[in-house]
Amino acid sequence: MADDCIFCNIANKTIHSDIIYEDDKLLVVRDVLPRAPVHLLVITKAHIPSVNELTDADAGLAGAMLLLARDQAKKQGISDKGYRLIFNVGKDGGQTVQHLHLHLKGGKPLSEF
Ligand code: 5GP
Ligand code: ZN
Repeated sequence: MADDCIFCNIANKTIHSDIIYEDDKLLVVRDVLPRAPVHLLVITKAHIPSVNELTDADAGLAGAMLLLARDQAKKQGISDKGYRLIFNVGKDGGQTVQHLHLHLKGGKPLSEF
């Protein structure tokens, strides 16, 4: 837990967010600035700064993020048409919040990268 981290503060409910799923390790929230009709974030409760800091011991956690994103895509009704899962990593990757999260975007045809 990092006191000045937005996603830690969402996880511990210090900052309000539209939480649509929660378990002991992960949260799913609606992105505050959605860039697609469906734009969710799968967030770890643990403060892990980025994919770079994942260890072999986090393999289960990383897999759970992916499977949760798949389940949420289905719940949002976008599984069949398709969607995009994105981990931004570091400065060049466009990461702005230094706490591990997976973007789930869909609900319209997405532009190419
Ligand atoms: P990144 O650029 O780090 O991959 O993505 C961070 C995402 O977090 C951005 O899409 C941004 O809109 C979203 N975000 C930033 N602050 C908040 C917040 O307080 N609440 C929620 N729900 N999303 C946030
Ligand atoms: Zn954090």
